[in-house]
Amino acid sequence: MFYSITDNNRIIHINDYRLESENKGVYSPTFCPFCGKELFVRAKNSNEKTHFSHKRNQSCSFKSYTEFFNSAGHTKTSEEIEIFKECIIKNLYQIFLKLQSDFIYSLDTTLFLKILKKVSNPKILKLRNLNCNHIPYIWLNELGKFDNQVYLYTNSGKLDLNKLKYKIPYLWNITEKKDIIIIAQENKDNTISRTIIPIDLNFLDYNFEYSYKFLSEITSLKIFDIFSISSEKSELILKELLNVCK
Ligand SMILES: [Zn+2]
Repeated sequence: MFYSITDNNRIIHINDYRLESENKGVYSPTFCPFCGKELFVRAKNSNEKTHFSHKRNQSCSFKSYTEFFNSAGHTKTSEEIEIFKECIIKNLYQIFLKLQSDFIYSLDTTLFLKILKKVSNPKILKLRNLNCNHIPYIWLNELGKFDNQVYLYTNSGKLDLNKLKYKIPYLWNITEKKDIIIIAQENKDNTISRTIIPIDLNFLDYNFEYSYKFLSEITSLKIFDIFSISSEKSELILKELLNVCK
């Protein structure tokens, strides 16, 4: 986990937490955005990416999407990954609109592609069972802290609200195991609120349309390079998309 909630209710990235703690000379208590238990810094000095971790004997049912997408399903072949990349690009306008209408109203193509670069990482694309419908939500998870909030993708239903430092009302049937987005938000009154949003896997309309303006913007922002698509292939995709543009 790369974000935690400090004892004065701020959402903080691991790098900032370390920097602040080193300046202060003390590592103040910091808590899990999911279960509210205290977190510690791990992998301070090894090659492993520094992250927040629970105490060894403390359980937390938060699972990152990379963990659970790889726990079932078959390994994607390189051909399937190529088809997947194409599918993402062909549905990119709908993915963009979904994010803009449901989450980031101020989203523009520059920010959209900046974060999409992280999503296009081969390690993410080859996750088993990951498909085009998940992309807006993976994108949100990769966004990091934005507008005083952070988005966490998980599928864990075991959220023990009684043990939380921050009590929130039931928003989700916690006995069900479904993919969800948890939004942790810093409020103006110095509190943290959290919202649980179920993942919508039916937002793609296969009679899709594309916006000419959007297509020209993402092309100039090198969308085909981001997904390492060959020039012959990208020409074909571009032709196809121009045919459905308005
Ligand atoms: Zn936790």
